[in-house]
Amino acid sequence: THDIHIIGGGLAGSEAAWQMAEAGYRVRLSEMRGVEGTPAHKTDDLAELVCSNSFRSDDAASNAVGLLHAELRQLNSLIMACADAHRVPAGSALAVDRDGFSAAVTKRVSDHERIELVRERVDGLPQGPAIIATGPLTAAPLAQSILAETGEAELAFFDALAPIVHRDTIDMDVAWFQSRWNKGDGKDYINCPLDKDQYLAFIDALMTGEKTAFKEWEADTPYFDGCMPIEVMAERGVDTLRHGPMKPVGLDDPRTGRWPYAVVQLRQDNALGTLWNIVGFQTKLKHAEQVRIFRTIPGLEKAEFARLGGLHRNTFINSPRLLDGELRLKSAPHIRFAGQITGCEGYIESAAVGLLAARFAAADLGGRTLAPPPVETALGALLGHITGGADAETFQPMNVNFGLFPPIPGRTKKADRKLLYTTRAREKLADWIGAAA
Ligand code: FAD
Repeated sequence: THDIHIIGGGLAGSEAAWQMAEAGYRVRLSEMRGVEGTPAHKTDDLAELVCSNSFRSDDAASNAVGLLHAELRQLNSLIMACADAHRVPAGSALAVDRDGFSAAVTKRVSDHERIELVRERVDGLPQGPAIIATGPLTAAPLAQSILAETGEAELAFFDALAPIVHRDTIDMDVAWFQSRWNKGDGKDYINCPLDKDQYLAFIDALMTGEKTAFKEWEADTPYFDGCMPIEVMAERGVDTLRHGPMKPVGLDDPRTGRWPYAVVQLRQDNALGTLWNIVGFQTKLKHAEQVRIFRTIPGLEKAEFARLGGLHRNTFINSPRLLDGELRLKSAPHIRFAGQITGCEGYIESAAVGLLAARFAAADLGGRTLAPPPVETALGALLGHITGGADAETFQPMNVNFGLFPPIPGRTKKADRKLLYTTRAREKLADWIGAAA
């Protein structure tokens, strides 16, 4: 007998199980590895890191990921405790000994008196309280059950990430707001103009830039209509992009009064208006190459990227449409989702959403309501984005970054801004913890 069933013993599920158990609830944690593997995991340990051993920046004063680390530590995160205990030198980043880290998570979880770790593949959605944390490689039968509940259009098996730019790093002396043929309210797109030489150099850079290969098990990644990588489009012919996502027709450059030779368009990506995605620019170019090449686009010379482009196998639901603000499936509120399947991206983001799902579920079981963490905190900004702030029509996985935080009111120097974000976050988190106590 258990109070809650958690499916998936990855970063999110392990954290969620620990939080529920520490809150006094009996947990059944189902993890299929041991019975059945995934294409990316190599061990049977819980919270295996499938790729890099880095949890990225640990700088809580000026980095959004570092701030998320600090917030999780304050909330007694198991993942952070095990990461800190198995830290290896990595400058200002938090990197871990991957085997020691996963072994520690496995031991702490399996030793907990209120957690029953069961090695089994779960194929259907549970009838009682549950947290689904089966990650980017959710086993197919469960994915089918989720699909049956949510509808075909709301579960994706691949991501198609276009780069996202912080709005305040776009040079608006060069770029301008306009919708094609002046449809819409005129503020829907930001346009960056390219002349012929700039366009040809850009196409050349796309074709020669270094790409990331698909993993063997991703080889069947389909290039859906409308999400083909730009470099693949560029290879089809020099004008393919100019007739596709870089089409200039109906866009008048205010500096010349004419349509440029080609245009790069950005579309608003979050309700706050702080993040803009480059339309149609999903790509397998390496991250450093993306930064180098996209900064040759007029208006984006100083662009800072909240997320770079990509294309991977990645199972995730349309959280802004399907989940409420407490990570409950609107159509079946006894079920919560957590981790990368909610459309967050990264080890620590997944653990964070696991922690939140468990805190909300524990409050539910205790007959209380827990207010979501304030949107000014890293936890609240991430949660707010995936459960509502992101545009449901174009929803794609997202990592934590300052573009998800409400802007600091008034005029601030750019150099001071990060510190203002993190200082404000610390105060707001303290208030939230105080109120929840
Ligand atoms: P996972 O950690 O994948 O855990 C999900 C668990 O659920 C797995 O253990 C799986 O076996 C289990 N499971 C699945 N289906 C079932 C089922 N039906 N029944 C029972 N158990 C099930 N993030 C980074 O921050 N840095 C990186 O370098 C990085 N590299 C990545 C490389 C690859 C190839 C992939 C696929 C992802 C990568 N990510 C990276 C993203 C990373 O996987 C996630 O951020 C993180 O592991 C997700 O945590 P999670 O708990 O949501 O899912």
